Amino acid sequence: MSRPLDREIETLRVMIGIYCRSVHRTAVLCDSCRELADYAQQRVRRCPYGDAKPACNHCPIHCYEPRMRARMIEVMRFAGPKMIWRHPVLAIRHMIRKNPKSIIKKE
Ligand SMILES: [Zn+2]
Repeated sequence: MSRPLDREIETLRVMIGIYCRSVHRTAVLCDSCRELADYAQQRVRRCPYGDAKPACNHCPIHCYEPRMRARMIEVMRFAGPKMIWRHPVLAIRHMIRKNPKSIIKKE
């Protein structure tokens, strides 16, 4: 079983991949997107909330440095709407973490 943080990192990598392939037209992640992916992974791993980590856009800490944060926001805007088609399971998990009230309660 993967931990929530691993899933989050996987989701980020998939989103950066979608963005890079479409915007930068590369088969593998370009250097700058790889830098962003590695940076994001490192931030998530060091998150003081650990497995109880809220979705980054709801997090009070905002640990990304402004330059990386701006790039990640751009990636999310671009890749977010495409996730639902290409990776529905990841996308839905991401949405649940982002806004649990948008999903019908099932407990
Ligand atoms: Zn790229």
